[in-house]
Amino acid sequence: MNRSNSPATINFINGTYCHPVEDGWIENINPADGTSLGRIADSTEKDIEQAVIAASNAQTQWGESTLEQRSRILSKIGDLIEENIESLAIAECEDSGKPISRARAIEIPRAASNFHFFANAITQFSSESHESVGQNAINFTLRQPLGVVGCISPWNLPLYLFTWKIAPALAAGNCVIAKPSELTPRTASMLGELCNQAGLPAGVLNIVQGTGARTGQAILEHEKIKAISFTGGTATGEHVARVVAPKFKKLSLELGGKNPNIVFADCNYERALETTIQSSFANQGQICLCGSRIFVESSIYEKFKTDLVERTGQLTIGHPAEKETTIGAMVSGDHYRKVLSYFDEIDSANASLLCGGKPATVAGYEQGFYIEPTIIEVQHNRCRLNQEEIFGPVVTLMPFNNEEELIEMANDVRYGLSATIWTRDLDRTMRLSKKIECGVVWINTWLMRDLRTPFGGMKDSGVGREGGQEALRFFTEPKNICIAFEN
Ligand code: NAP
Repeated sequence: MNRSNSPATINFINGTYCHPVEDGWIENINPADGTSLGRIADSTEKDIEQAVIAASNAQTQWGESTLEQRSRILSKIGDLIEENIESLAIAECEDSGKPISRARAIEIPRAASNFHFFANAITQFSSESHESVGQNAINFTLRQPLGVVGCISPWNLPLYLFTWKIAPALAAGNCVIAKPSELTPRTASMLGELCNQAGLPAGVLNIVQGTGARTGQAILEHEKIKAISFTGGTATGEHVARVVAPKFKKLSLELGGKNPNIVFADCNYERALETTIQSSFANQGQICLCGSRIFVESSIYEKFKTDLVERTGQLTIGHPAEKETTIGAMVSGDHYRKVLSYFDEIDSANASLLCGGKPATVAGYEQGFYIEPTIIEVQHNRCRLNQEEIFGPVVTLMPFNNEEELIEMANDVRYGLSATIWTRDLDRTMRLSKKIECGVVWINTWLMRDLRTPFGGMKDSGVGREGGQEALRFFTEPKNICIAFEN
């Protein structure tokens, strides 16, 4: 399989690659060097209509397929992703600017895991039953597929987040219309071919390329699409909710974050420091779960600050295809400029730049969008640098004196996605975990994932949970059936 040099990325509808109905195109730019990767389909509501027709035609048969049939096909898709890790990693790296080492070792394998996990999970999915004791009746809950569903995913972890939605949706017996970000279209496109090879019937998964404003919007608005699973920014999420709510579609929103990374003096210092480098700068800080607000207990603050700046200086900014690169390119020129604009805030917030704070130039790739990993020491948590999701290689640092002050600052933000706590005090981990307003807490680790666990955020970080059984519940309609019997 080698589509990474394909000049055009087109739609995958009804098991076939096809050009957009209105022949519109968008250019796909490689953010590492500013060159063109070819064009991608700029789909309209006419393409979505074709995809919905294909999905509707396939729905009855797929929804009534046995769990073993679905499980076998999904598992095969996972196997094929694993067999094609290299070509998928190359495409992902070229589209997004992420280091290929990361795509190869973490993200593409996790996309395969999504299929393997849900291939198994659907065979273990069960529903409740309740005997109405004394009334001679038994209730049980049917979990039926919703029908045709829409999955919209962002550019930061392209194939991983695309399959995070598609795998449970298909496992639960739904047919899917899915749209990746226009910035990272190619691994999603390659998935279509793998689905055909795995024997997924035509029309069960339809992948439509294009912009959010047009293609995505058409998915939200289509009356026959019963549910929307959306991952992206909070502002887009608000818009999605406004469009979808009056149509009474089922809706899952996984949105932005501004997550606290909390370091207590009694932590395993070396582990906390090393992992903080990851949670700050992995994927150029473009992970919703990055710990972008670092709070360090006062007694170790100065030492941690010095060591963090020193370790950050050891990161290697470079072309994403180079194996020693740890900091690749930002995903696009627009996003690069947005992240850089936050450096203008440093003076007005009375903050201090500890390292970075400017674009980086990679020799030979001067048109690429590179930014130096940046640490900013802030004076208070209410500044924009601590309140807004920058979504780049930019973290803030500030000390705290006690738990009460820390909890107040950790929660004093509109987001509530995740938190990381570094301490050896078990009682403290429980006190803080219960009080911090977020959907995921990591204690003495970061980004460790078990696909059985519920995943999602509180406050402006989202609505609902996906992952494990939660995802299968989201993608099914519960129907209670009450049977009366005679004694
Ligand atoms: P985004 O701009 O909100 O886009 C997300 C997806 O929505 C893209 O496919 C986008 O398409 C599409 N879209 C945009 N406007 C739309 C509309 N009107 N109708 C339907 N779809 C529309 O987010 P992003 O910049 O790609 O991703 C970064 C954000 O995602 C960050 O805020 C990050 O925190 C968040 N995120 C959250 C999680 C989580 O699990 N909570 C995980 C990863 C990322 P185009 O890109 O083609 O315009």
